[in-house]
Amino acid sequence: MNTSDFGCGEPHSPTMKQLGWTEEHAKSFSKYTGPYVPGRVVCRQKTVWEVFIEGGSVTAGISGALKKLGRFPAVGDFVVLLHQPEAGSSTIVDILPQKTVFTRGASGREGTDQVIAANIDTVFIVTAAGHDLNARRIERYLAIAHASGARPVIVINKSDLAPDPATIADSIIPVSSGIPVISVSALNNEGINRLEPFLLTGTTIALIGSSGVGKSTLINRLLGHSVQETSQTRDFDGRGRHTTTVRQLFVLEGGALMIDNPGVREVGIGTASSGIAETFSEILTLAEGCRFSDCRHDREPGCAVQEAVKSGTLSASRLENYHRLQRELAFEQEKAGIGLVRSERKKWKGITKMAKEISKGKGNF
Ligand code: GDP
Ligand code: ZN
Repeated sequence: MNTSDFGCGEPHSPTMKQLGWTEEHAKSFSKYTGPYVPGRVVCRQKTVWEVFIEGGSVTAGISGALKKLGRFPAVGDFVVLLHQPEAGSSTIVDILPQKTVFTRGASGREGTDQVIAANIDTVFIVTAAGHDLNARRIERYLAIAHASGARPVIVINKSDLAPDPATIADSIIPVSSGIPVISVSALNNEGINRLEPFLLTGTTIALIGSSGVGKSTLINRLLGHSVQETSQTRDFDGRGRHTTTVRQLFVLEGGALMIDNPGVREVGIGTASSGIAETFSEILTLAEGCRFSDCRHDREPGCAVQEAVKSGTLSASRLENYHRLQRELAFEQEKAGIGLVRSERKKWKGITKMAKEISKGKGNF
């Protein structure tokens, strides 16, 4: 374990408050007395975590109890560390309640290592002028963002490539349902200041969007320097080995926290059922008028949703995307179900093996 002074050329050592620590966290933490300190996970490297603590950072492992429960801290998590600098060790013993979570894959795998980022307040859904600018794709990302609990903001990057910057957001407005839509050029530094209202001190922001839309360029622009140049840090893990970690949580000069997490970029629709409902809320409102309560809004008689498409109040492509996301969700959940069965089998295999070893008189039982 190595306590460094925030390393990486960072301009300052943030306090817990600057890391997003609130009264609520303090309340949850208050039951810990003794050699415990709070921290926030910066990144995970297989079995070690880099954690910001007040005035520095440590590399820590996790307790056997957390391991047993399958509770692995994710980037952005607030954690409790058993911090014993004199013994040269630091161990994460608890994860404080998460305000929001991004999960990989589908739901139904509780207790397993599925959270990929936690406590994100605002998510920038990044898209780019040109062929990436697609209302259907935005709906998909909106569903994911809503499901996480974070507040979405739509950022249209590469405004410099748009023939008419004034109309750039026109195709997005109908699906944004009141969510801010901001066009910027990360390359030319245009419109970046319009993101400032969302970059408040202690607020955690993550970027999601397709590859190539300019997320890295935007992060670098907001940081004012290159992430890759500054994010490599050599530290000692619990066993005194050198490890190289890529920091994923950054403190912007203005005080906001930015999570640069490839996992967040690839987050699946699998857990987004509540997010789909929120993204397509007008379809759910219309559905209240359907004749059948289990109407699938396909060819059922008396379907108020199909009626709305016919009368032009709901666009056919929006309904189509709603159906597509629902199908995708069902597929991913089925896949997860299969995964669950597999892991159950693996567990049984282990138990069977153990039973055999007991009967052979092997092992320490
Ligand atoms: P990421 O995959 O989303 O992280 O995208 P990158 O940040 O790597 O950017 C992909 C490409 O788009 C790079 O060649 C960038 O230089 C370019 N790019 C990023 N932002 C802009 C922009 O505002 N305007 C233009 N014209 N190109 C940009
Ligand atoms: Zn219907």
